[in-house]
This record gives sequence, C-alpha cells and structure tokens, in this order.
Amino acid sequence: MTKKLEKTQPPNRTAAEIMDAIGIDPLAEMERLANGEMPCGICGGAGKTRYQKPVKGRPKERMCENCQGSGKETVSPALRDEMRAELKKYGLNV
Ligand SMILES: [Zn+2]
Repeated sequence: MTKKLEKTQPPNRTAAEIMDAIGIDPLAEMERLANGEMPCGICGGAGKTRYQKPVKGRPKERMCENCQGSGKETVSPALRDEMRAELKKYGLNV
C-alpha cells in the first residue's frame, strides 16, 4: 500500500509579511541608501578584503576595491535622490 502524499500550498502571505518574517525593513533600507550608509556588499563594511598570493603564505589584506576602503556601498546621487523622493511619500524626510 502506497502512502498518498498530501499536496500542501504555501501560506498566502503579502510581501510585507514576508519581509517582516525575514527581518527586512524596506523603509530603513531605503533610508540607508539615501544617506549613503549601506554597508559594502563585498567587504561587509570592513574596508578591507583578503586575497591569497599565488605562492604559499597566509592570506593578506588589501583595501576593498568596491568601496575604496570606506566600508560603505557606493550609491549614485540619482539613486539617493530617488530614495529620498520615495521616503517623502511616507512622510519621512532624510
Ligand atoms: Zn568594501
């Protein structure tokens, strides 16, 4: 006798509920972008990355090329303005 598998459907959730469940606050993220405070996606805010020399040796660190050592993601002025305009719709001035 084979066991019949029950088909289950994922719960019907809104995008806001999903973001809340995984701990993402979209307005806070937009504010960080608008203020240029988004941590660098490559070095995680350290400003340095490790690299391995082609020969034996311990990994060395060098300045992160993505953020130029600032530890912040490079955000264009156009994107900052766009984020400020979006936040203004929610009554938030940054
Ligand atoms: Zn970086």
